[in-house]
Amino acid sequence: MKNKIRITLICFFFFVISVFAQSQKPYVILISLDGFRWDYLNRGLSPNLEFIRQNGVSALSLRPSFPSKTFPNHQSIITGMYIENHGIIANTFRDEFSNELYRMGDTSAVRNSRWYLGEAFWETAERNGITTASYFWPGSEMNLSYRRPTYYENYEHNRPYEKRVEGVVNWLTIPIEKRPRFITLYFDDTDTQGHRYGTDSPEVNMAIKRVDGMLGLLFTKLDEIKMRDSVNIIVVSDHGMTDISDERVINIENLLKGFNCKFYDSGPLMTVDAPKEKFEEVYQLLKKSENHFKVYKKSEMPEYFHYKNHPFIGELLLVADMGWSLISNRRSEYDSKGNHGYDNNHLDMHGIFLAIGPNFKSGYRTGTVWNIDIYPLLCKIFNISPRSNIDGKAERIEFLLK
Ligand code: AMP
Ligand code: ZN
Ligand code: ZN
Repeated sequence: MKNKIRITLICFFFFVISVFAQSQKPYVILISLDGFRWDYLNRGLSPNLEFIRQNGVSALSLRPSFPSKTFPNHQSIITGMYIENHGIIANTFRDEFSNELYRMGDTSAVRNSRWYLGEAFWETAERNGITTASYFWPGSEMNLSYRRPTYYENYEHNRPYEKRVEGVVNWLTIPIEKRPRFITLYFDDTDTQGHRYGTDSPEVNMAIKRVDGMLGLLFTKLDEIKMRDSVNIIVVSDHGMTDISDERVINIENLLKGFNCKFYDSGPLMTVDAPKEKFEEVYQLLKKSENHFKVYKKSEMPEYFHYKNHPFIGELLLVADMGWSLISNRRSEYDSKGNHGYDNNHLDMHGIFLAIGPNFKSGYRTGTVWNIDIYPLLCKIFNISPRSNIDGKAERIEFLLK
């Protein structure tokens, strides 16, 4: 009997210790507003984001990694790696050795862990005993349980935004020992409307208001559960947006008639697959025709793109000038009003970075920050070690913390 009491007491003691340890860990909600260009903040349409800018920390802009597309950049944010290193080199790409295709619309492909070479923050966190959750994030649905968050939702494009916010807040009311400490949340609206109607459209302005409204809803709900002051909220976007036009289109297939080339992707970045014996000739012809685009052999890609050291990146790459679209006869990505994917140093491709909460300074503004530095920042907040093979650097961003 005495033994039983002793064991119960010991168990209770460890339970109390573990609850105490849990209660000391910070909370972070990482929100992605797809395609929210850095300067949308200055339109006076987003009072909740403005509240964060005034009372938390904000960067002039967030520099994405190249190419400035959705899946590659959500991976850069969550792994701290350049795109050539985390392996999600585009929204759609092929493993030319096995002929398998990765495509963001293909659920079985996006869940296949073989494509993801980086360690997402949720994996680093869980290895360190921190429970995580994701209400959507590219790569969060992986088919290996130890590589995804404890709690996650399968992507559903039309899931009402209010439901997403509710889902996040519900996770924060789970009993403390099982409650997630790191949560992601995603909204596509600004990207969707930016593509369809262009960056200066009333539709984009409505989208800015809608996603900002969701932030307001989150604040209100956090107030209701009395957690507003204990949660750090980081708001980012994966890239910006620029206006395109059907008057700024270059048909590369027409330029290369008779060479039997294949063309992958379209818009800001195109890969040309030329027959081996014609490779140099095709390259020289493209070089001579450079007008509103640049052609690079893979090995010649500018260093700052960090986009050559991956086996699935093609041998001949064409990068369009800002606002221009490269097309072949088969696929086009120019019959919309806005696009992204261009040079990541161009301001139009830059997104936002804002944060507020107990770990962040208040009313602090800085210049441009890089999206690969967000993963080490998260590691700092949770006081855990980042993976040693990342490209991001805490030194470039940690001054935003208290
Ligand atoms: P982009 O073509 O780069 O503009 O991609 C934006 C699109 O990515 C959005 O409209 C969404 O449909 C899609 N998307 C974003 N997150 C996910 C996800 N976790 N799973 C599947 N698709 C997603
Ligand atoms: Zn995007
Ligand atoms: Zn987009």
